Amino acid sequence: MKASSVTCALLLLCTLAAAPVRAAEEPVLNLYSARHYQTDEALYANFTKATGIKINRIEAGDDQLVERLKGEGAASPADILLIVDAARLWQAQQIGLFQPVKSAALEQRIPPAFRDPDGNWFGFSYRARVLVHGKQGVDPATVASYEALADPRNKGKVCARSGSHPYNLSLVASMLAHEGEAKTEAWAKQLVANMARSPRGGDSDQIKAVAAGECGVALVNTYYYARLMRSTKPEDREIVAKTAVSWPDQKTWGTHVNIAGGGVLKHAPHRENAVKFLEYLASDEAQIYFADGNNEWPVVKSVAVKNPALEALGAFKPDPLPIATLGRNTPEAQKIVDRAGWK
Ligand code: FE
Repeated sequence: MKASSVTCALLLLCTLAAAPVRAAEEPVLNLYSARHYQTDEALYANFTKATGIKINRIEAGDDQLVERLKGEGAASPADILLIVDAARLWQAQQIGLFQPVKSAALEQRIPPAFRDPDGNWFGFSYRARVLVHGKQGVDPATVASYEALADPRNKGKVCARSGSHPYNLSLVASMLAHEGEAKTEAWAKQLVANMARSPRGGDSDQIKAVAAGECGVALVNTYYYARLMRSTKPEDREIVAKTAVSWPDQKTWGTHVNIAGGGVLKHAPHRENAVKFLEYLASDEAQIYFADGNNEWPVVKSVAVKNPALEALGAFKPDPLPIATLGRNTPEAQKIVDRAGWK
């Protein structure tokens, strides 16, 4: 009797121990994502429906995810990292988080400017960095370019978040590519001298400050403004009514654009599934969910998003600079921002 009880107990233990092993054999994908939009549920569910690959998601801020991956090292369970901005993707690449991916589907669908030439990361949607200005008291002709932020006519009017934020570092990186170091530094210094207040808050806070009349013009990513345009809250409607968007540098190189994107992680336990997922993100269906979820434009040219806010903002000429170039210029951009005192 005693012996058989022991056997039973052992068998039970064996069964219990076997269960998680079997679960791990299910096709899965471990996704570290800085995204958190309503449409993401459908985005991920459709991938699972099409491939049978279950997605385990860890959602956190861009910098938190990078820190987490650094800490986990080779033991990381993560397959994919999704973050935003050239500055961050480049930094993640520099510290060796990604592994290169060669995929004909990705190369064919994603324009070269929106992906790393070596396949470390790929952009899936893009946003523009525009100037939002007050409708009252600001002549649109004085805010038609990024250079205009350094114009003496805008003294005491300019608002922007910290110069060290990736969104601004990437913009400075684009100025560096177009204008060189000396001109970019002079521009950044004058921009700081023109500020209405010291940098604080995020892009949405700058839009609010423009509507409140505290700032005349602010540097802002398009999706923050599009979000307000689509809002039904009376306070958001009022902000939109008091402000306007200017597309900078339409007469020169075009408005600075940046991406949301990601890549396969160096220690990805499910590499094949991860590549499948990136290819899925470049599909027509996923492109719409991915871009529209945050009021952005899809990188795949043949895909059109029906987004009332983006339609109202209208067409614009984007700066064709490769995102990889922005990333490469980021360290120098940080030095310029520091020297300019754009805190
Ligand atoms: Fe943002």
